[in-house]
Amino acid sequence: MKKTFKIGGTHPKDSKLSSEIAIESFPPVPRVCISMAQHLGAPATPIVAKGDKVVVGQVIGEPAGFISGFVHSSVSGTVADVLPMADLAGNMVPHVVIDVEGDEWDPAIDRTDKIVTESSGTPEQLIAKIKAAGIVGMGGATFPTHVKLAPPKDKKAEYLILNGAECEPFVTADDRIMREKPVQIVIGARIMMRALSVEKCFIAIEENKPAAIAAMTKAAGSYVGIEVLKMKKKYPQGGEKQLIDAITSRQVPSGALPIDTGCVVQNVATALAVYEAVQKNKPLFERVMTVTGNCLQNRKNYKVRIGTPLKDILAAVGGAPVEGNMKYISGGPMMGKAIVNLDATTQKGSSCLLMLTEEETLRKPESNCIRCGKCAEACPMGLEPWLLNKLARVGDRYDDLEQNNIADCIECGCCLYTCPANIPLLDIIRVNKAEVMKIIRARQAK
Ligand code: SF4
Ligand code: SF4
Repeated sequence: MKKTFKIGGTHPKDSKLSSEIAIESFPPVPRVCISMAQHLGAPATPIVAKGDKVVVGQVIGEPAGFISGFVHSSVSGTVADVLPMADLAGNMVPHVVIDVEGDEWDPAIDRTDKIVTESSGTPEQLIAKIKAAGIVGMGGATFPTHVKLAPPKDKKAEYLILNGAECEPFVTADDRIMREKPVQIVIGARIMMRALSVEKCFIAIEENKPAAIAAMTKAAGSYVGIEVLKMKKKYPQGGEKQLIDAITSRQVPSGALPIDTGCVVQNVATALAVYEAVQKNKPLFERVMTVTGNCLQNRKNYKVRIGTPLKDILAAVGGAPVEGNMKYISGGPMMGKAIVNLDATTQKGSSCLLMLTEEETLRKPESNCIRCGKCAEACPMGLEPWLLNKLARVGDRYDDLEQNNIADCIECGCCLYTCPANIPLLDIIRVNKAEVMKIIRARQAK
């Protein structure tokens, strides 16, 4: 039976227009700008300076706290500058700018195609290697993977769940890596199972990816304890809490973490990065990214170096596909973020560059709430979006918003998608959630 989560959810058109397009390496660019803030937590501290020579895979940024990560050069060349620049979201963060010269890799990296199946090392050694490779959650959350693989002493992991749901419309990067690198992903899962000391791993894939399900099932067949599950196509099937509910029937309580239910959820792309780090000594400096849109003919699944300017990617697919005000999204249309600056560059969490026409993004005029309850029915976190919207619009009702669990919102957009009154529920909730989170953090810091 196909598994799914129990509360809420919706069914946007999946528009997987690039699912049959094989992964292609993106051609070299003359200059990359690598952000030091590609992970949740404190930005890394740059450790190179203008004029330094670097090679592919060399550390250029060191973690600046417990929740932070290493950053590596994705190219060889000369550091042109280290300066604050606007990232994909428009935030000014430190970047290392490198003029590309050749393609010289750190000689420790195994660049052959040979699949390395055997691995050794204690959980501590494996986690240290994953940390040194700068691996973060590649589904978009960008939480440092080594932190997730080392739960606090009083919490015990029981299951590893690999997220291959890829429930966001349009995005096909995970689908492609599951079809093209299934064995490597399974070995990555085995390494994470060893790091966590768990015996069971579920790999969850939505039913609309039959080729990926077949490839992953075949690859997992030779290993005890790894099971591929066919998930129902329902958004947001790939949400951490939704996957845990669907697979284990355990609920992550409000304010708690997945590990409180004995589960650790990692993305399939993260598993591939773990394989490459542990088995091939390759840090995370490139990733697969979908470039797509209804308006784009030349769709791609590119393996792209981190720090590649988006405008170079746009140029490679033929430029803006239509005249007028195009909208560019980093990620999928439901949870992705609008890109404010095409000079910004790819990051570890960049799963997709989605192009939408002005027509596709036009918002219909907002009308009054008709109390139909559709938003509450669709909310996978059991919230009442109409009430959160009402409280937020009154202003200064942060206590009430907190009591109504606005902090639990996963910003999935199901409420906005289903509202017949076209109320921008997600926008309003997101802004107010950020304020409530600030209040909660300030309280916890006292
Ligand atoms: S965006 Fe938040 S409030 Fe809206 S449906 Fe998703 S979880 Fe619920
Ligand atoms: S879906 Fe829209 S109209 Fe219906 S209750 Fe929610 S906010 Fe109101």
